[in-house]
Amino acid sequence: MLRSIRYGEADRVLHLYTADHGRLGAIAKGVRRARSRFGGRLEPFFRLQIMLHQGRGDLHTVTGAETVAAHPRLREHAAALDGAARACDGVARLFGDGEPHPAVYALLCNELALLDSRPDSAGRANQLAFRLKLLVAAGLSPVLAHCASCGERDHLSGFSGAAGGVVCSACEASAFALDEEAHAFLVDALGRPLAQAPDASERALRQAERAIGETAEHHAHVHLRAAA
Ligand SMILES: [Zn+2]
Repeated sequence: MLRSIRYGEADRVLHLYTADHGRLGAIAKGVRRARSRFGGRLEPFFRLQIMLHQGRGDLHTVTGAETVAAHPRLREHAAALDGAARACDGVARLFGDGEPHPAVYALLCNELALLDSRPDSAGRANQLAFRLKLLVAAGLSPVLAHCASCGERDHLSGFSGAAGGVVCSACEASAFALDEEAHAFLVDALGRPLAQAPDASERALRQAERAIGETAEHHAHVHLRAAA
């Protein structure tokens, strides 16, 4: 579950991300009553097996729910909770089209499980590694191995969202400066599993975040929230 919003006297509107149908909206009736049959299961960041009834409108109705993973430890750490919220927000913004993206579902499950098992891995580096993998799932993998404009392999000194990746010193007109450390962070974050995401200096992470943000804006017309 990505988000839950109070609705009426006792209901909640849920924003769900599903493996088979992408993003869905659903209403859980009576869920805020003390004796609701859903108990405390319909909470954000839960992984659920959920049964929905498809009505006439946009919102489905929840008819049943079983917990697959509640991620209780994630809730005890402010940074992990914040990381889960930002991860869910990124998925909702980049993949709100109602199309199924099983790889995005799997990636989000991985991220929530990681924040639950190792809450201390939360933070900007984790968030940026997650977003980079989301961009790949969206088909927006930034070019990192050579200049995105001319193919040059040396003298890579900037990043251009418009060009779609790193650029060389001759092509950097629309680019901002990207240090070697930030470039290495992007390459490593893409190449490694989420749980082994690299860390980097504040300055490098700031540049990496800008590279990811500009890629999402130029190619998906999506503005991502700050990573931390
Ligand atoms: Zn170039």
